[in-house]
Amino acid sequence: MKILFTLVFLCLITLVLLDQREDIYDLLIFQGAQLQMSNNRMNDFEDGLHVSLCGAGGPMPAPKASGPCVIVVAGQKQFVIDAGTNGARNIARMGYPLGEIEALFLTHFHSDHIDGLGELATLRWVSAANPRPLKVFGPRGVEDVVSGFNEAYRASALHRNEHHGDGVAPLSGRGMVAKPFHSPPLGTALEIFHDGNTLIEAVRVDHGVVSPAIGYRVKYKDRSAFISGDSNKSANIVRFAAGTDLLIHDALAPNLVGLMNKAAKKIGNHVMAKITVDILDYHASPMEAAETAREAGVGHLLLYHIVPPLILPGQSSIFLDGAEAIFPNITVGHDGTSFSMPVGTKEIKLTRDAL
Ligand SMILES: [Zn+2]
Ligand SMILES: [Zn+2]
Repeated sequence: MKILFTLVFLCLITLVLLDQREDIYDLLIFQGAQLQMSNNRMNDFEDGLHVSLCGAGGPMPAPKASGPCVIVVAGQKQFVIDAGTNGARNIARMGYPLGEIEALFLTHFHSDHIDGLGELATLRWVSAANPRPLKVFGPRGVEDVVSGFNEAYRASALHRNEHHGDGVAPLSGRGMVAKPFHSPPLGTALEIFHDGNTLIEAVRVDHGVVSPAIGYRVKYKDRSAFISGDSNKSANIVRFAAGTDLLIHDALAPNLVGLMNKAAKKIGNHVMAKITVDILDYHASPMEAAETAREAGVGHLLLYHIVPPLILPGQSSIFLDGAEAIFPNITVGHDGTSFSMPVGTKEIKLTRDAL
């Protein structure tokens, strides 16, 4: 009898909920939209240096990892290093105000590091009716990349301005402006951006045939981070990452790429068989990144530009292949992995593991 009464009661509740389904959805969507539009993760930040991966993957399609993209917040200023596919959307999903991005820094011009540029510049522009274009720092050649994207997005920008008006999409802020620099020689760091307590320097890294390739050191008050971009193990990174709190280093696992090579050969895929050999000579392995971290004496190592994509549960330990024994403070990055380093402390806090 009691069970029957409960079933009847549940049926009645379900009927009422079904009847009011649209009202409930409306309320949820309205509240969600308010939350999304007013959400600013930076309001919760202590004074310090904060790093999030807006893309933890490399060029290979991965179910959960976007193209290489790192957001660095120094105090209250946002900087982005590289704009891989989906980076801009992840920045918004993580609750950062896209419209307030101060500048973008490119490590090199491989497609996976620039293919989200158009989207990032557009979303930054219309998110805050930005009157000035996005500054894009990079080694010589960045002018060509930027002018190509500006041209490709010209018609889109004109349409948006025509439709939304200057109050949303002022033409003065459309696109990007290139800020080229001469790649610094080995052994020197070039000051690229200096504003109050924030210093960003460019350092040459070793990406094989891809030259120049740049890493960036970011300092904010007494905290620091180094972003390698794509690089082999490099003495220059050891030198300029020395003593930094957080080293964000690319990593490619030769053992897993070797298995891909074996599979490609087995099915007669000559293209993948060649690619899976070629890429071994211009990325660091997790072990080499760990050696760099140990030699540089950094506080923590965050691996990103993860190649190949990690798909199976527990695959991280095979990817690392013993790197933790060389340097124990390692995190394998995912989209959304975030660290905070408050000033006046030695803390390097993992604040979020994934999106
Ligand atoms: Zn890459
Ligand atoms: Zn590359």
